[in-house]
Amino acid sequence: VPFHTQDEITDTEFLSGVLIVLHDVTKERELIRIQQEFVANVSHELRTPLTTMKSYTETLLGGAMYEPETCLSFLSTMEKETERMVRLVKDLLALSQLDYRQVAWRKEKLPLNELVSEVVNELRVKFQEEPRHVTVELPETTVWHCFDRDKMKQVLINVIQNSFKYTAEHGLIRIALEVAEDQAVIHVADDGIGIPPEDVKRVFDRFYRVDKARSRDFGGTGLGLSIAREIVEAHGGSITVCSEPEKGTQFTISLPLTTDEGGADACESA
Ligand code: ADP
Repeated sequence: VPFHTQDEITDTEFLSGVLIVLHDVTKERELIRIQQEFVANVSHELRTPLTTMKSYTETLLGGAMYEPETCLSFLSTMEKETERMVRLVKDLLALSQLDYRQVAWRKEKLPLNELVSEVVNELRVKFQEEPRHVTVELPETTVWHCFDRDKMKQVLINVIQNSFKYTAEHGLIRIALEVAEDQAVIHVADDGIGIPPEDVKRVFDRFYRVDKARSRDFGGTGLGLSIAREIVEAHGGSITVCSEPEKGTQFTISLPLTTDEGGADACESA
């Protein structure tokens, strides 16, 4: 730039030295809002059971512990609340590990058929006092997929357990595994309470519950589906839902099929 005296600098030359930085903060603001909402939700979720525990303990110490029936009922509620808090902390830890990519994935090439059967059998036992009509459709051929067994089991537990939780006693639950093009597809359908159209999109959001009381009754944390989605996406797959109130709900999990014949080792980088 040639040297100019102050008088010689034209308007254009003067302006050419100005640098304007425009920075869109909309995204940052949205992230801060989501973070604040998350902390508020966690605090609320922990405060509710803690308040119950505190008032129950006070009542027991105030004399109710000498009434065996009241004592038993209070203690069983306190046990339920404690279990829910433990589950909540476990779910939060799982989400935080997924968020910060601290999960040591142990992906192996394994048959999905067996995992589906295993989860259904475990849930049948768990819900045997409130039975459902469960049908399981598995293909004759083995469907191989590269997955972390424990994590994918958690996905199936979260989704299939929901179909038990949100369906009346003797309700119908259909679980099907099929191969469609290059995907392994798992359908979990029920004829339960369904989800209102305005809520369908939000069920994968952290802490989102259509009916908080019902979810709480079953010890729900409102985090099950968000954990399921994170895990499925970490396997290159997707999870979707379609539902109609009073008719039922269907979740669909699609996972890319393992085409290589390399066995477990080939999965490590998948
Ligand atoms: P929760 O611990 O509350 O079950 P989830 O994240 O697993 O949390 O599910 C979020 C919400 O989605 C539930 O509270 C419920 O309102 C709704 N939901 C999930 N699965 C079903 C289903 N099969 N039928 C009806 N509603 C469901």
